[in-house]
Amino acid sequence: MSRIAYVNGRYRPWREATVHVEDRGYQFSDGVYEVCEVRDGRLVDERRHMARLERSLAALRMPMPMSPAALGVVMRETVRRNRVENGLVYLQVSRGVARRDHAFPRSGTAPAVVVTARTLDNAGNEKLAAAGIGVVTVPDNRWGRPDIKSISLLPNVLAKQAAREQGAREAWFVDREGNVTEGSSSNAWIVTAGGKVVTRAADTAILRGITRDVLLGAIAAQGLSLEERPFTVAEAQAAREAFLSSATQIVMPIIKIDGKPVGDGKPGPVARALRQAFHGHAEVG
Ligand code: PMP
Repeated sequence: MSRIAYVNGRYRPWREATVHVEDRGYQFSDGVYEVCEVRDGRLVDERRHMARLERSLAALRMPMPMSPAALGVVMRETVRRNRVENGLVYLQVSRGVARRDHAFPRSGTAPAVVVTARTLDNAGNEKLAAAGIGVVTVPDNRWGRPDIKSISLLPNVLAKQAAREQGAREAWFVDREGNVTEGSSSNAWIVTAGGKVVTRAADTAILRGITRDVLLGAIAAQGLSLEERPFTVAEAQAAREAFLSSATQIVMPIIKIDGKPVGDGKPGPVARALRQAFHGHAEVG
């Protein structure tokens, strides 16, 4: 199937979908992004993703390139043109094209917008979730604002590669106090021996995942008790369960942390139940 990308106002065939060499996203990572799940051809939690996009842009003093409704139209059209039933849609906004200079370009410079969409291997993901995955830990050496969904992802890239090289699927960042902040592309959770679900509070040290937000509702609805607080690697290794959350992986059970099995080394009932319940709590357009 030929792929189509939206680039600055036009839907272009893959090979012609290019940005300018002086796009500030390309030169400075001066931009933000969103990844939305596509399920049965529909966007999941579009409203929440748009709200987060607006927060990220505002934090970097960038204007919205168009209204949230218009961006939604572009995202849906990109999904449609790529015939994605189940997958993801990626949206990136950079500060635009301007002569290379670190300071902001003159006001009125149009933000650059790229939207792509692709199919995900649902069956493969279900298999992975049934088996559970391993994570490794790496020092959190990111800047002070991972709450902004910036396209500057070099530490995340290196962390994910470290995970791959150690036969794991995700890397958990660990701060100077020894607490897990989040994964390289996901939020981190554990279930304590006492059955409490624990995840770090959404301060400036982590990205406030949309999946995380929705799961808070699912957790309350299931009558589970929740603690938003930091946890250490040792606490996670001694936990009954661990899992991660993201728009493309929903809830993914973790069965190993730095080679040590979590709980009985199998996906746990809380992670399984939350994965099952997730779409009942999400907003599907
Ligand atoms: N943290 C990081 C660093 C991420 O990249 C992601 C994925 N976008 C998440 C958390 C999870 O966010 P969401 O649930 O919105 O996909």
